[in-house]
Amino acid sequence: MSTSVSANLAQVRKRIELACLATGRPLDAVKLLAVSKTMPAQAIRDAHAAGQLVFGENYIQEGVDKIASLADLSLEWHCIGPIQSNKTKLVAENFAWVHSIDRLKTAERLSAQRPAELPPLQVCLQVNVDGGSNKSGVAPSELMALAQAVAQLPHLQLRGIMTIPEPTDNEAAARAVHRQAKDLFDSLKASGLDVDTLSMGMTGDLEAAIAEGSTCVRVGTAIFGHR
Ligand SMILES: *Cc1c(COP(=O)(O)O)cnc(C)c1O
Repeated sequence: MSTSVSANLAQVRKRIELACLATGRPLDAVKLLAVSKTMPAQAIRDAHAAGQLVFGENYIQEGVDKIASLADLSLEWHCIGPIQSNKTKLVAENFAWVHSIDRLKTAERLSAQRPAELPPLQVCLQVNVDGGSNKSGVAPSELMALAQAVAQLPHLQLRGIMTIPEPTDNEAAARAVHRQAKDLFDSLKASGLDVDTLSMGMTGDLEAAIAEGSTCVRVGTAIFGHR
């Protein structure tokens, strides 16, 4: 198990490096978020032993349990899943980052519930770039207003956007969707918002995402195996 996680991690790092090289981006331009949802704490310990410090969880209670049981390691935890109102407090108290904010009400609750002794919660807004039907995410046309409002909240720091495009085998189609996300990200910057994180790309599309400017890929399957 531990050898496979470390070998898998090495392979994913290589993929990221090659994708950066292929498009002339610095090798450290892209952060790797290891998505550990449904994986046991031991798999995370194995990844940590192989040098991975940043992890993403989708299911809040599961994430909080793992954060507690792995508190002896200095890990950085990102919440990347849907957040119901009754879970905002757990998120505000336990995670360093949230990628999945898609409404102001959630952001307001997270800001109000962020403990004063912790640094501001680092947040990305989830954008439904390709209009996928039953998916969460703010519509592109509503992104700017949400970003401006979230940037005002005292205990949050707006860092950028996250996208989860519909999977496709068509490289050109994938790149086109990623490019739309990059354009939205650039429009936030152009409006004066101090954002630096474009969270896009998973096991199946990380090369396409990096080619279009991703700064953070979220990889589960290629590191931990099938769920
Ligand atoms: C599960 C998940 C991932 C990782 O997906 P893989 O295809 O296993 O790499 C990334 N982002 C989000 C939001 C996820 O839910």
